[in-house]
Amino acid sequence: MQKSLESVTEIINAHQDEFYDYLRLDSVSTQNLSILPTVAYVKDMIERTGGETRILDDLGGNPVVYAYFKAGPEGNAEKTVLFYNHYDVQPEDPVDEWETPPFEPTVVDGKLYCRGVTDNKANLVIRLYAIEHLLNTEEGLPCNVKFLIEGEEENGSPNLNAYIEKYADLFESDGCIWEFGGKNENEQFVIETGVKGMAYFDLFVESADVDIHSSLGAVVDNAAWRLTHALASLRDKDNKVLVDGFYDDIKPPSSSALKAVHERTVSQKKISDIYGLKHPFITDKLDWTAEEALAFYPTMTICGLLSGYTEEGTKTVLPRKASAKLDCRLVPGQDPKKIEQLIRQHLDRNGFSDVELVLLKGQKAFRSDIDDPFVQTVRKSAEEIYGGPDNVVLSPTNAGTGPMYSFGQHLGIPVASSGCGHAEGKAHAPNESVRLKDFEEGTLHMVKFLQQFKDA
Ligand SMILES: [Zn+2]
Repeated sequence: MQKSLESVTEIINAHQDEFYDYLRLDSVSTQNLSILPTVAYVKDMIERTGGETRILDDLGGNPVVYAYFKAGPEGNAEKTVLFYNHYDVQPEDPVDEWETPPFEPTVVDGKLYCRGVTDNKANLVIRLYAIEHLLNTEEGLPCNVKFLIEGEEENGSPNLNAYIEKYADLFESDGCIWEFGGKNENEQFVIETGVKGMAYFDLFVESADVDIHSSLGAVVDNAAWRLTHALASLRDKDNKVLVDGFYDDIKPPSSSALKAVHERTVSQKKISDIYGLKHPFITDKLDWTAEEALAFYPTMTICGLLSGYTEEGTKTVLPRKASAKLDCRLVPGQDPKKIEQLIRQHLDRNGFSDVELVLLKGQKAFRSDIDDPFVQTVRKSAEEIYGGPDNVVLSPTNAGTGPMYSFGQHLGIPVASSGCGHAEGKAHAPNESVRLKDFEEGTLHMVKFLQQFKDA
């Protein structure tokens, strides 16, 4: 272990310039910045480490980088792990709130700051360093390693499913290490083995061709009222979704997944303090706990509302149109298109057929079998690096959304996360960082995992 640590530290130090230049590439996918230079850079880093690469770009969107490292002579050539990562990053806005230049890697108090460092460039690099370390040992690489590195994750991965479907043979493997992960607010290492899905909607109502003097409110209905009544019909005061059939297709979690979730405690107090919450958790009035809600239940959230006059002072106007953004985080078993149909039927049945509903984005949820040997190997190897079972949390489903479903559907493999993030890593926000200690430990975890996966 000590030897691994020394070797890993040497590798990290030796490649610092290379890593920093990777961070300096402002590969913002939503603004289409530096995409091709970043692809070329990633390809070079992999080939420098000893892997083969192939750039996949025949299905549109930003190129997908495929990489392959063959198991060494002492390794198990029957075993293949797939690493899923992304080379694109979020925009750096708001620039004023950065304390260091967003695309200039800067170390302050043991933390490395840069846009894209925790999400997701450091996680790619720790995997490459682990491989380099193992290639330098007498035993060589313990198993085959493949990479799928995409460039549109921060843009909702619109083309990823097509690439995985077409290139399913190329990406064939026994399990996938997901791109994110790291320590929670209690300094425990969290392994996520699933994600929620998403159905994201626009709602529109129009009640006239022009805005009208509000005196006519005596006889004329208005778009803002129509929309708020329609929205209010979707969820009751106790926070239960009232759409018929909304909860029907939920696939019940396995007993192991339930057990894993029941072992966790989500602190209402801590979360209330972090966000300055003015109300208790909505689960206080529901039939399931906060822990269960985050892992196993779908949500319905009004993300935005727009109508009428919203500036200072008064303007007595009857708005002619209103719109809202609505997201539903889905769980395994639920289909975004079916959810759209159910909400449509609900609106029609309740007298809101004039409310237009448009599904903007649909993504199914995914949950791995947490008893799968692949997942258990990620857990066991993490326990050795992070100080035992108390410091490692297995989370069956992350409350957020990602393109995991495609991996399950087309490759039929379990997925588990491992990353070097920390609770205050500020992904997507100004002053994004990783802690250098986590960076080193994350590399060691990847070394340990690959060693144990060989015989798992
Ligand atoms: Zn991200």
